[in-house]
Amino acid sequence: MIGITSEFTKVIENYEKYPEIKYIQILFCQRNIGIYYPEKRELDSISNYLKNKKIIPIIHISMGKDPKWWNNTPIHPTVAKYYGYFRRHILREINYGKQLRAQYIVIHCGSKGGRKNIKRTIPIEKFVERLKQLQEESSISILIENSASKKCFGSTFDELLGYVKQIPKISICYDTMHHYSAGNDINGILNILKHDKVICIHVNDIPLKVTYGSEEDEHESLTNGIIATYDKGFKFEQLKSINKIKILETPRNELWNEELRLINNMTTGIVKVHSAPVTINGRRVEGIIDSGAEWTLMSEKALSRIDPQGKIPTTNPIPGFKLKSANAEMPIEKWILATVSIGKNGEYKKQHKIPIVSQGREVLIGLEILNNEFDIFLTHKISLCE
Ligand SMILES: [Zn+2]
Repeated sequence: MIGITSEFTKVIENYEKYPEIKYIQILFCQRNIGIYYPEKRELDSISNYLKNKKIIPIIHISMGKDPKWWNNTPIHPTVAKYYGYFRRHILREINYGKQLRAQYIVIHCGSKGGRKNIKRTIPIEKFVERLKQLQEESSISILIENSASKKCFGSTFDELLGYVKQIPKISICYDTMHHYSAGNDINGILNILKHDKVICIHVNDIPLKVTYGSEEDEHESLTNGIIATYDKGFKFEQLKSINKIKILETPRNELWNEELRLINNMTTGIVKVHSAPVTINGRRVEGIIDSGAEWTLMSEKALSRIDPQGKIPTTNPIPGFKLKSANAEMPIEKWILATVSIGKNGEYKKQHKIPIVSQGREVLIGLEILNNEFDIFLTHKISLCE
């Protein structure tokens, strides 16, 4: 259950680059420009797009320059500031979320205040009261995120747990980078991430220059930061075994495919390579479900056995498509258009474009089916055993 983070105006562009995602975390702000106020027709069109692609949106309450705020200065609406202008800002974005059929609202807890004047510190009771009011006024479930700084509410998991225990509808979004910069022990993170109250994980590495407990909030790619570089008792690969919403908030989108692969486990609930009852156009083949295969493919030999007269129609190749085996590009003889069915009772059944290759097993069921139909594999709605 992986996802990326996107500005609202770039949702389609981003999805098309990372089609294996199931979730998209949307921010209504744009780099350099700031808070974005979408029109209804924009929301409708993105809403329909996401619905068609079966992508589940999550709204991250935005922060940035606000053209409607004093002098276009940056705003950071948080739970602690849930009143007045910021409350209206948050409610407006929740309403966008409603129009997009968002599953969750992610929001930062915010500063405890009192940095300049100790008397202006926000008491915990006040914070919890605002959090309660926020959930009451939101038709979408709220996830509060752990803070990168101890000057903010929720910089430890225990604090967060303390708040959400008082408001059962609220759960937690846990950020791996914030955990470290707020001075929490990395060794304990896996147990936190596995906790029932953590619904969503913000998967971010820590820039090498950020020191432990420094309260800085800067994200790094999963292959370049402190967790990737040093043995801290936690590795991003361990997230594969955690079947929760995992959202990248890392800075270099050219690395996102690699990062998504690092944390995503397509094989939860099924073994990596599994023989399965498969038919092509109703003819039985030897089917292998292989979560290491990029795409479903079929051998020439198998095709000539089930279709000796060449009745299955050929089709145009997918433009730019390349098949890679372990070390080289695999030549594709042709493409056929056929109905693939998987499962003892044909529980999965869809028409697919299948590349025919000169060698190999009969049929490999690859990631484009496994990813898109992940839920049915996960919940064993497909009976693989005979
Ligand atoms: Zn985050």
